Amino acid sequence: MYCLQYGGYMGRILTKSGIAAGRACELRALRTLIHGDWGTAPLPPPQASLVRYRARHSALASLHRLRLARAVVDVASLPLLWSHAWRSSGGTGEPPADGLAWLQGYLVDNPFLNVGAERVLVAVERTLRAQYLGRMWQARPDLLVRGPDGAIEALELSSARSPLSNRSQVDTMVAINLLVMSGLDMPETLRQLPHRVIICTLDDYREINVSMERVVAREILGNIATWLDGLTPDTAQPAPSLDTCSGCSFRDTCAFALAVDPAVTESTVVDVPVAF
Ligand code: SF4
Repeated sequence: MYCLQYGGYMGRILTKSGIAAGRACELRALRTLIHGDWGTAPLPPPQASLVRYRARHSALASLHRLRLARAVVDVASLPLLWSHAWRSSGGTGEPPADGLAWLQGYLVDNPFLNVGAERVLVAVERTLRAQYLGRMWQARPDLLVRGPDGAIEALELSSARSPLSNRSQVDTMVAINLLVMSGLDMPETLRQLPHRVIICTLDDYREINVSMERVVAREILGNIATWLDGLTPDTAQPAPSLDTCSGCSFRDTCAFALAVDPAVTESTVVDVPVAF
């Protein structure tokens, strides 16, 4: 028996990141998404680039929550907000000044809500879940807004320079978002409205509408469910590599990880410079 049962649905709650990690290594998917086992190896310390990414998202979430509460946010309050976001994201030392300057520019530009003042903020990083195909799916859009035409839009803020480069992951994200936006945890009044998913790029303020027809979303989710249904200890393929194993919580006991490189069982940090 390889499936856990949680309140009528099978296995773990399915998120875009959990599915992406499972796609990278089916053995990991079998353990996490089917067995519900998260492993024991501690997470490696985050790369500096990841700390910056998290800090920027955390600061934006705080900023938007203040806006949702109709609080007055001025430039003078941003250093404290940025400093808190930096530390809570694992940053050490002085918060980088370029990050604060970027945040100040974002506050002034208000790029994604200031569409003719017609977009209304509904929620910030709200967790939405829905049961479908016997599984529980979950998304946490960065912003939920009421669009100019009354549609509910999930805005996913992206630091990536090419946010569509991994189309499979984007499609998974969109399909789950569309499902949960029409799903059980959404207030009835919002559930009935049209839904959109938009990727908003943080460096050049682009908006990329990645919405899809529900029939396409259903097919994507169906394919994921079928893939999971077929995972057993006999069929799940390990895909060890330095990249996949170094962040996997099974790396301390996984024979495949050890075969790739014994050093992978220790915290592996590969830092790469990124534009911020
Ligand atoms: S340690 Fe590597 S091979 Fe083993 S389950 Fe994790 S990602 Fe897969």
